[in-house]
Amino acid sequence: MSQHNQDWLARSRRAVWHPCTQMKQHEQLPIVPIARGEGAWLIDFEGRRFLDGVSSWWVNLFGHANPRINVALMDQMNTLEHVILAGFTQKPVVELSEKLGELTGLGHAFYGSDGASATEIALKMSYHYWRNRGQEKKTGFVSLKNSYHGETLGALSVTDVPLFSATYAPLLRETHRVMSPDWRLAELGESAEAYALRAADQLEALFKQHATDLAAFIVEPLCQGAAGMAMYHPVYLRRVRELCDEYNVHLVADEIAMGFGRTGTLFACEHAGIKPDLICLSKGITGGYLPLSAVLTTDEIYAAFYADDVSRGFLHSHSYTGNALACRAALEVLHIFKDEDVLATNRQKASIVAPDFARLSAHPRVRNARQLGMIWAFDVTDTQPGFAGRLFTAALAHGVLLRPIGSTIYLMPPYVVTVAELQQVFTTLLTLLDENIS
Ligand SMILES: *Cc1c(COP(=O)(O)O)cnc(C)c1O
Repeated sequence: MSQHNQDWLARSRRAVWHPCTQMKQHEQLPIVPIARGEGAWLIDFEGRRFLDGVSSWWVNLFGHANPRINVALMDQMNTLEHVILAGFTQKPVVELSEKLGELTGLGHAFYGSDGASATEIALKMSYHYWRNRGQEKKTGFVSLKNSYHGETLGALSVTDVPLFSATYAPLLRETHRVMSPDWRLAELGESAEAYALRAADQLEALFKQHATDLAAFIVEPLCQGAAGMAMYHPVYLRRVRELCDEYNVHLVADEIAMGFGRTGTLFACEHAGIKPDLICLSKGITGGYLPLSAVLTTDEIYAAFYADDVSRGFLHSHSYTGNALACRAALEVLHIFKDEDVLATNRQKASIVAPDFARLSAHPRVRNARQLGMIWAFDVTDTQPGFAGRLFTAALAHGVLLRPIGSTIYLMPPYVVTVAELQQVFTTLLTLLDENIS
């Protein structure tokens, strides 16, 4: 078996259809074969090392080949890898559900495999709740402009990224879109808070007209990741919570990307002190090891399904629902959060590198520098189409994996990243901006 990058690259191009990719672009843009991972680093077949600045698509929390998760998984593998969850149960799924219940203040954990399946579950659950309650007209969904909730047809219906959704428009369900509270869109002189409240007014106007036909409002709390790390003031979530209560519309918090410490608190909703009616979790839930998602909800929603009539139940399933290995990895992730005081350590790291990020933010080509928990982002001026690909290639040559979104550069590293590594990335970015990549 060959140990060279070039062979894996060619074989992958022939045999693998890569996600979110125009495959023809790989005639120029090389695919990067990764041989192994070690903490925050990915290592190719020729020994080159890349700092995983995107946490392998926002999933990795505690590094690649994490010793604690490895041990937990090996133990679980030798005990029970998987069992059907309909009519059966096992230790990891019970313990994980109890812990997630304590941490979110919600309960009745329902499992899926990916983020998109959690979105589907939340939407179906909300609609079915209203139906079970005799409010069959409440079938509509609302999401934000520039929202991202996944790529399956239901999730894509509440996603507002035309590049991903426009082609499939005839297959999608029509949903309402309301203005994003993203503070970059505020008027000159308008505060982030005032802008967020103005955005909430638009949601209220929609609710006033349509609430009797609406099942749920789905939102990425505090930061719209795929929109380019679009951050907003937590007052928006507080106001939205009030409006959803007042107009009888479910609030679905899609914490798939922002949950598990990414924004500085365990869940992003904590910044606003609110509790959603349904919460979607995935990505970091297993520390980036295995696909797993969960939807947790209130006793009230759960109770509306609890009946003698089978069809009032939530008859949704995936083959790997509640997979024991994935649940065990997730449990170990929660243990690490607790034992290693991860949130406090992350806060400390972020404050130590704040002056370095400020230096980068002062570069003449940088706009809207922003930081939240373990996310650093800024927009670059004077970019041409294809900037993201060019910056990706240039950063890779400096040993950093970055995937800009349009002209937004962001850093979202695993939490095991060191202060020195963060500083190294900021220095690399200064160099790249000075080289005038556009
Ligand atoms: C990634 C993401 C999803 C979809 O998760 P997948 O596991 O990719 O299906 C949904 N919502 C948000 C906010 C995400 O960032």
